[in-house]
Amino acid sequence: MFAARYIPGEHKLKIDDIPKPTAGPREVLLKIRAAGICHSDLHVLHGEVSYDHPFTMGHEACGEIMEEGSEVKGQFKKNTLYAVHGPNPCGDCDYCRAGKDNLCDSPTRQFIGLGTDGAYAEYLKVPARNIVEVPAGISAEVAAVATDAVLTPYHAMKTLGEVQTNSSVLVIGLGGLGMNGVQIGLALGAKVVASDLREESLALAKQMGVQEAYNSKDLDTKIKNRKFDVVVDFVGAEATFKTAQNYVKNGGTIVLVGLGAMTVPVSTIAFASFQLRVQGSFWGTHQEMKEIFELIAQKKINPQVETGKMNEVNHWLEELAEGKIKSRMALLP
Ligand code: NAD
Ligand code: ZN
Ligand code: ZN
Repeated sequence: MFAARYIPGEHKLKIDDIPKPTAGPREVLLKIRAAGICHSDLHVLHGEVSYDHPFTMGHEACGEIMEEGSEVKGQFKKNTLYAVHGPNPCGDCDYCRAGKDNLCDSPTRQFIGLGTDGAYAEYLKVPARNIVEVPAGISAEVAAVATDAVLTPYHAMKTLGEVQTNSSVLVIGLGGLGMNGVQIGLALGAKVVASDLREESLALAKQMGVQEAYNSKDLDTKIKNRKFDVVVDFVGAEATFKTAQNYVKNGGTIVLVGLGAMTVPVSTIAFASFQLRVQGSFWGTHQEMKEIFELIAQKKINPQVETGKMNEVNHWLEELAEGKIKSRMALLP
């Protein structure tokens, strides 16, 4: 079958022909209907996050069941979309049992498409426990990107940032994640200010309903003297993390999601004197995945997706690296 594979040290995926997997006893085999491209793929291909073994990339997956393992037979529907919970938790460890399965610490767990075979392929086998039925009416491409580009900002903002009605929120970075972050903030009833360096992202954020969207270069004039309960940094660069510190309220929370730099500066004086908090945030839980699909089905979040052909994955990765993807890219077979 077709598969686009990460090879250690290579900056492009190898377009390959590999054997079709078969489902183990507690696994299902999905025929991939859509696979989203995340900026984290670029961090891997650029060597900022490295693996010592090859694997098929792609961690935003949606497909249809082709095979059920012997111990999970009859549990799933035909002609129905299922989305993959990419953190791929074990279900048995203390974190999993406490519902914090994004933090699963089983020594055997590996993230789908990041360390173990993922979605840039014709077929994907995954543990049956780690798929979620997609409500009818949601397209495969929206379902695929929702597994990270909606789930991650939802976990970051609702669960960890505790964004709620009337919270003031500054969203930094309006790419795949941030554009949905803006919509999640609005859906939670928050007052959201959006920022990015790309003018077209600001325009799109306004289309998504945000009243104020400013170029990051102009923040010091546009929102001078304003402070926010929560600042969500979807970039994670030195500059954006400094901005976050400048605009968070006393006692407020910076939620760090982006992995743009290996380290970011923390001002000891600001953090100590103003009791600032930094909350790191990682992906999301199985339960939250069900919640985001409800919100999408109810049209409270409307994830924007562009589509391309899966065998052109390297081209679309380059477009993402050059900042040419307006929203989120999903690859179709
Ligand atoms: P993306 O490429 O789709 O979007 C990045 C956005 O940031 C773009 O709109 C870009 O114009 C903007 N940007 C870049 N530099 C900026 C700056 N200095 N000021 C303001 N805006 C700036 O990326 P994405 O897929 O949305 O991912 C964003 C980051 O989040 C990546 O680093 C990715 O690896 C990371 N990520 C983290 C998690 C997690 O669980 N913590 C999950 C998924 C992705
Ligand atoms: Zn991702
Ligand atoms: Zn676990």
